[in-house]
Amino acid sequence: MQYDVTVIGSGPGGYVAAIRCAQLGFKTAIIEKYSTLGGTCLNVGCIPSKALLDSSEHYHNALTHFKEHGIDINKPKVNFKQMIARKADVVKQNVDGIAFLMKKNKIDVHQGVGSFIDKNTIKVTPEKGEATEVKTDKVIIATGSKPADLPFARIDKKRVISSTESLELKELPKHLIVIGGGVIGMELGSVYARIGSKVTVVEYMDRIIPTMDSTMGKELMRSTKKIGIDFKLSHKVTAVENTGKEVVVKAEDKKGNEVELKADYCLIAIGRKAYTDGLGLDNVGIKTDDRGRIEVDEHLKTSVDTIYAIGDVVKGAMLAHKAEEEGALVAEQMAGQKPHINYKLIPGVVYTWPEVASVGYTEEELKEAGKSYKTGSFPFKALGRARASMDLDGQVKVLADKETDEILGVHIVGARAADMIASAVTAMEYRASAEDVSRMSHAHPTYMEAMKEACLAATENRPIHM
Ligand code: FAD
Ligand code: NAD
Repeated sequence: MQYDVTVIGSGPGGYVAAIRCAQLGFKTAIIEKYSTLGGTCLNVGCIPSKALLDSSEHYHNALTHFKEHGIDINKPKVNFKQMIARKADVVKQNVDGIAFLMKKNKIDVHQGVGSFIDKNTIKVTPEKGEATEVKTDKVIIATGSKPADLPFARIDKKRVISSTESLELKELPKHLIVIGGGVIGMELGSVYARIGSKVTVVEYMDRIIPTMDSTMGKELMRSTKKIGIDFKLSHKVTAVENTGKEVVVKAEDKKGNEVELKADYCLIAIGRKAYTDGLGLDNVGIKTDDRGRIEVDEHLKTSVDTIYAIGDVVKGAMLAHKAEEEGALVAEQMAGQKPHINYKLIPGVVYTWPEVASVGYTEEELKEAGKSYKTGSFPFKALGRARASMDLDGQVKVLADKETDEILGVHIVGARAADMIASAVTAMEYRASAEDVSRMSHAHPTYMEAMKEACLAATENRPIHM
């Protein structure tokens, strides 16, 4: 089979690249080693985690908020098996949707591990049956990432687990230790804390979600303590042992004291690493960097002229929408177009409750760059909408250039922050000033009014409702 473009990997990077290639008239193939399409994101990442976050949030609300809303129910019970079954159904609907899109766009799907024989020939080895060969002019590598582990804490998938296993446990953990207070740790830690597990987050740094603006981590920690999450910050994990019945985690606190924790499960969530196993990169002379990521130039081209790489397997944020943008960009470049990605405007979201969402520079980054800036914040508790829904935790923080008033960063912790951040991205893409946003009408009552108010605070320190 001869193709114009062959994509290896069917996650959000790969399947979007394939669709865009097909839309642009290229004869396109996609190779995926798993039996379902959609990659990490749809199978064991974004989608299943959000399904469990939504289910656990419903339970938590029924338990804690319904009464105050005037809804009397018998004490709700968690049916964990059903929660996991619904999640599996949500995943199935999504991955079937990708299969449909491949068909609709006349993209050939080859199931099996893709491995370079040379730059125009890829061997596809399926789980069962004979290997085949695909001939192609160009290749897009989109093989994604895998969970990282610690040298002394191997993920055994039984009691010492990664996010993948945590999405389909057979029983509700009594005590879940989460190593890493980043995005996965806080999202999946929240799921289990809401439905009754004791959750302890052990984090190496002195704050959680450390790559985000520090105000966000502080607020999120305050809120998630209320659902019972216990935090051990500035703790260096030194040992993780599955004794069969339980997991024993040893860590050193910042004074050097040894702390020992015991639990029935330990989730390792310390980051992810690029995945290139079995790709046969040596056969085409493509190099990886010191973190195992495929080296690419600013056009996402590898050292081989006709081979590109995108998404988690290359540098940059490990996010589905970043991978998608890169997939579209590479396809459009191949068609002779001149697309562009503004990497600074790729938003980051943590789907806890309250949600955290962020775009642009953090205050720490502006300080480090020596940039003069001003800040405007507005708390959710001063919003009529937040009072009505009882979502009082959180704030919008706007960072703007001190001289020009251009918005440089927006950081939101609060209800629906994940959806709100899109308007900050739009404003920043058009290089709006804080005053521009503060003069736009925002519907009342909405959470978005906090964005307008934070911009008023940043512009002239004159929020209306404070
Ligand atoms: P992947 O989605 O990892 O897909 C790579 C695919 O390539 C896989 O299907 C793999 O089987 C296949 N493959 C690998 N090697 C080969 C080979 N040699 N031959 C054939 N196929 C191969 N991001 C967000 O933006 N929002 C979220 O809410 C979010 N939640 C997440 C929750 C969890 C628990 C996790 C783990 C991740 C989450 N992410 C989220 C991150 C997101 O999943 C990744 O950034 C995204 O999936 C990267 O897309 P990708 O296309 O680069 O790679
Ligand atoms: P992360 O980088 O978000 O967080 C890892 C955390 O572990 C950090 O806080 C880090 O300081 C800590 N850590 C590292 N080594 C440690 C150690 N030895 N002991 C204790 N703590 C340690 O990584 P993640 O949460 O594993 O997520 C992986 C990737 O998946 C992220 O890049 C993220 O972008 C992506 N993801 C995104 C979403 C989302 O967009 N909502 C959700 C889940 C995952």
